[in-house]
Amino acid sequence: MILLANTEAEPGFSHAVDSLLAGGAALDALVTGIGHVEAAPSVRSVGYGGWPNMVGDMECDGAVMDGTTLSVGAVGAVPRTLHVAALAREVMRRLPHVMLTGEGARRFANEIGFTEDDVLHPDSKRVWREKLDDLLDDEARAAFPDVPLIPLSNAITDPERVRDTTVFLGIDAGGNAAVATSTSGWAWKYPGRLGDSPIPGAGFYADSRYGAAACTHTGEMTMRCATSHAVVQGLKFGLSLDAAVERAAEDLLALKGGFIGEVVIHALDKNNKHRVVTLRGGKPVSYWFWEPGMAAPERRQSEQL
Ligand code: ASP
Repeated sequence: MILLANTEAEPGFSHAVDSLLAGGAALDALVTGIGHVEAAPSVRSVGYGGWPNMVGDMECDGAVMDGTTLSVGAVGAVPRTLHVAALAREVMRRLPHVMLTGEGARRFANEIGFTEDDVLHPDSKRVWREKLDDLLDDEARAAFPDVPLIPLSNAITDPERVRDTTVFLGIDAGGNAAVATSTSGWAWKYPGRLGDSPIPGAGFYADSRYGAAACTHTGEMTMRCATSHAVVQGLKFGLSLDAAVERAAEDLLALKGGFIGEVVIHALDKNNKHRVVTLRGGKPVSYWFWEPGMAAPERRQSEQL
């Protein structure tokens, strides 16, 4: 058994540990943990507390992957919905599809009894409004949101793009690996933008025969390299966990252009080893780790590649 999650996971991590210790399946333990993160206003990148898109609407993305069946459920750009990881699990369980987006995902949520949530935190709304007021002149402010959004999207620089995600990875007592993600995506994103968090292979991947991986920060990078799948495929081809992570990181570091912020790769292998690395000389970030025998989960620091 092992549980790994990124720094944003704090409000939910011990709930995921408790669920695993009670004999829960890895996937269910991760979704239980993520539900607490999505509801916590203190987490300023996921669910309530996250950031809206360019027109002030919350659009959340989430996903789950069962590493034993290789089943995936994903939802993207979902309006009015806090618990997108749980919703993604229902897509996996109830539909012949892998991914639903936008109003279709919300319709599905209504059909299975998920509440309509007010996901926009008042402080996020205030910061969004201030940002917009900086960018717009009086005429555009009066016409908003019926103004061209492309120039606004391009006016915001990389450091101003607040972003993060929560990712949970684990292996249960039966050796089943799983991964789950949830995010509000980039702050001020173009409406409808999907990052890597709902994209299997990019933001997450799990295969119980080898291990699991999940990424945070700029999805526009990891989608170009299928980074999470690259890590698991490296394990499949016989690389050590260290080498698999380093190979996947090399591909990211070779990318040219675009917003190339500090991706963090979280990975574990079927032998319960783990590794968390920060790219681009980014600052080390903390992450959460637990394995049997530990009295409590530990907050640890990533390595820099
Ligand atoms: N990966 C997420 C995205 O691109 C955001 C993040 O983790 O910072 O939407």
